[in-house]
Amino acid sequence: PQRGRFGPLVGSIDEGTSSTRFLVFAAKTAEVLTYHQVSIPHITPKEGWVEQDPEVILHSVIETINVTCDNLIKLDISPEDIVATGITNQRETTVVWDSVTGKPLHNALVWLDMRTASTVDQILQNGKRHKNFLKNVCGLPVSTYFSALKIRWLIDNVKAVRKAIAENRCLFGTIDTWLIWNLTGGVNGGLHLTDVTNASRTMLMNIDTLQWDPQLCKIFDIPMSILPEIRSSSEIYGYISESVLKGIPISGCLGDQQAALVGQMCFHQGQAKSTYGTGCFLLYNTGTAIVQSNHGLLTTVGYQLGKDAPPIYALEGSIAIAGVAMQWLRDNLGVIKNVADSMDLAQSVGEVGAVYFVPAFSGLYAPYWRKDARSVICGLTEETMPGHIVRGALESVAFQVRDILEAMALDCGYPLQKLLVDGGMTANNFLMQIQADYCGIPVVRPLMSETTSLGAAIAAGNAKGVEVWELDNVQAVPSDIFIPSISEDQRDIRYSRWKMAIARSLDWVE
Ligand code: ADP
Repeated sequence: PQRGRFGPLVGSIDEGTSSTRFLVFAAKTAEVLTYHQVSIPHITPKEGWVEQDPEVILHSVIETINVTCDNLIKLDISPEDIVATGITNQRETTVVWDSVTGKPLHNALVWLDMRTASTVDQILQNGKRHKNFLKNVCGLPVSTYFSALKIRWLIDNVKAVRKAIAENRCLFGTIDTWLIWNLTGGVNGGLHLTDVTNASRTMLMNIDTLQWDPQLCKIFDIPMSILPEIRSSSEIYGYISESVLKGIPISGCLGDQQAALVGQMCFHQGQAKSTYGTGCFLLYNTGTAIVQSNHGLLTTVGYQLGKDAPPIYALEGSIAIAGVAMQWLRDNLGVIKNVADSMDLAQSVGEVGAVYFVPAFSGLYAPYWRKDARSVICGLTEETMPGHIVRGALESVAFQVRDILEAMALDCGYPLQKLLVDGGMTANNFLMQIQADYCGIPVVRPLMSETTSLGAAIAAGNAKGVEVWELDNVQAVPSDIFIPSISEDQRDIRYSRWKMAIARSLDWVE
């Protein structure tokens, strides 16, 4: 293939909860030249437990790199034009492995996993401590969601983990760390590191110093020796040791939601984006200020683009169940064949006989943070059809986003003017329209849908020593805009019914 046809190229490894992708961007135009994607199966050994095999994840990354590079060659583009690669990943998901054998000591505990409910009670001393008692240190409430609880569970319940810690051969990482360690050599000198955005999701990092916090580690009783080094989101960390990309620097790393913030160019205080994937996550850029939420949002690091760059913070509203509810409708209820069918089916039933569906499969995250919340479907009648339930599931995503926007307006003092969106679920135009309707602000969807991958590519392409990315070209990206089409009254009536359904979900006692 010809060299240099599209100028320097930047790769992006995008390891999400549902799938892994490797995309190649032309740095000059921010255009995706080609990509490959493979699904990652969930392993559910018990109700509420969600695992993935770290080795399957690693192999999926290598496979997507190989196939994407083959695609480049078919397109007469040389893979040798790739000058750097970035990584973006599902956050909080916890891997522990043996540094000597390189083998995982357990399957990865996926962020959605609920097995740590009793660990939460243990840390909160059965209600003696408030769930926000560490919030001013790490920005997060004590929840099943974050890595520290998952590490604690692994130490408490897996003998091999305790043994490896005692023998000083246990390493912990989120998925970025696991991938970087393996891609830079694994047992032969792999680098054990993470970036500030991923570290800010573990519950072990001090949100102010951006270092592991000895006090937090003590509370969770986690040895600091197993933790990776924390680095910025954009710098050359090391070089890929094998595969077609051997010798290419890894120079960008961001948790997936933070990568979408960068990919959506939310570089100014007051800008926000919402990403609809497995879950749904709103991040609001608060600049260099650490804003502590009083309304159930998380304080997190948005990005730090360079060793010497200032960290930029964000307020986050996390919704556990969004697109995965479509998979549930498909796989468990069998009411749709493909997730994309949800749009036509939801539209087919119209607005009469609406049901309200709270999919609290992992309890409820923001702004409620209630692990004991349970799913409910309210308003079933003899006329209820599968379409009503599908519609209720899509509406639940739009209503949950409104819950978050209300909390953000209270924390920040003024409401958001428009919502930038991305993620797999935004392909659903019906969802986008009801999102605009229920929030009462325009919803802006860029035509370039791969904003998460783009964010990681930007971080990698901008890193000192790489410096090939020309940001100006990206900002002109055209978008679809969805304008609110229902009255304020209609919006409020439906939202108040949603709140009634939420009250029932929260009141459920097992
Ligand atoms: P992740 O990054 O979490 O792996 P993606 O951004 O790839 O997620 O989005 C995949 C999710 O979006 C899946 O849960 C899927 O059910 C959902 N999804 C994809 N297309 C549609 C659609 N047309 N309508 C509704 N949901 C969809």
